[in-house]
Amino acid sequence: MYPFSYTKAADTRQALTAGRNGGRYIAGGTTLVDLMRETVERPRTLVDISALPLREITVAKRGALRIGALVRMADVAAHRGVRALYPVISEALELSASAQLRNMATIGGNIMQRTRCTYFRDVNADCNKREPGSGCAALHGVNRTHAILGTSDDCVATHPSDVAVAFAALEATVVLLGPDGERTVPFANFLLKPGSTPNREQALRRGELITAVEIPALPRPLRSGYLKVRDRQSYEFALTSAAVALHISGGVIRQARVAAGGVGTVPWKLPAVERELIGKQPSDTLWATAAERAADGARPLQHNRFKVELLKRTVERQLRIVGGGK
Ligand code: SF4
Repeated sequence: MYPFSYTKAADTRQALTAGRNGGRYIAGGTTLVDLMRETVERPRTLVDISALPLREITVAKRGALRIGALVRMADVAAHRGVRALYPVISEALELSASAQLRNMATIGGNIMQRTRCTYFRDVNADCNKREPGSGCAALHGVNRTHAILGTSDDCVATHPSDVAVAFAALEATVVLLGPDGERTVPFANFLLKPGSTPNREQALRRGELITAVEIPALPRPLRSGYLKVRDRQSYEFALTSAAVALHISGGVIRQARVAAGGVGTVPWKLPAVERELIGKQPSDTLWATAAERAADGARPLQHNRFKVELLKRTVERQLRIVGGGK
């Protein structure tokens, strides 16, 4: 460790002032404290925001959902309204981390968590994300768990969050509060692909704070769920995953929301798969045909070519689980 100062914000105004002055927000601390121990992150000032009133889950009449940024992962997963309306969110959370971590980590912190790329966490390795301009050791190194979609020559790391995949599929919105007031950012624009600046990961302005994640109302009935494929059955990150939500009425798929995890530098929305599904009748043939589009644009690396086929199979299987078939 190294010296840093710590302050606990009593209210939002105090937090924003400290954030504007370069303070780093911390709540559950399940990612940041680890990274500080390893000296991967070296914030000079920590601003504890755990006392802010951001712990509510609100369900609006038509099924829109607002999750406060400081609600614990475990509490979101167990919430009756979330379970009833969006099982894909509960399932993604329950398949994440350990029970102890889910009891500590917040929703805002979860989507802000940093990559599990081992080179990023090894301060002796070249890593453009940790140290811009130093290179990317993963590009020609051991890259079995890395991304096949949204990569650049500067970074090929995956985003590790499961629930972020559900949020991407459901076309959530992130609510931000900063020195200039409140604004909302579509989830698809909140997490940034690496491009030539992999050190910049979110569309946050200086001092901005996540206050909530909002899920828009979707037509009912809505079936949804999350499938995670990994090397071991618990406490492991996804090799591939699929979040699927389908509105089926009169035997026809009217709306489809599909995203993948473990394969992209950000949670990866699959619009080509969604387009294949809309207006069609559920069937095993349809699931297979649609899932063929899941890896469109993939650029596999030396050790992760298997993810192309695995991704298609993961999506196909989850479409069948959620949508049924004939
Ligand atoms: Fe760093 Fe990204 Fe390369 Fe990993 S993949 S070493 S995080 S630049």
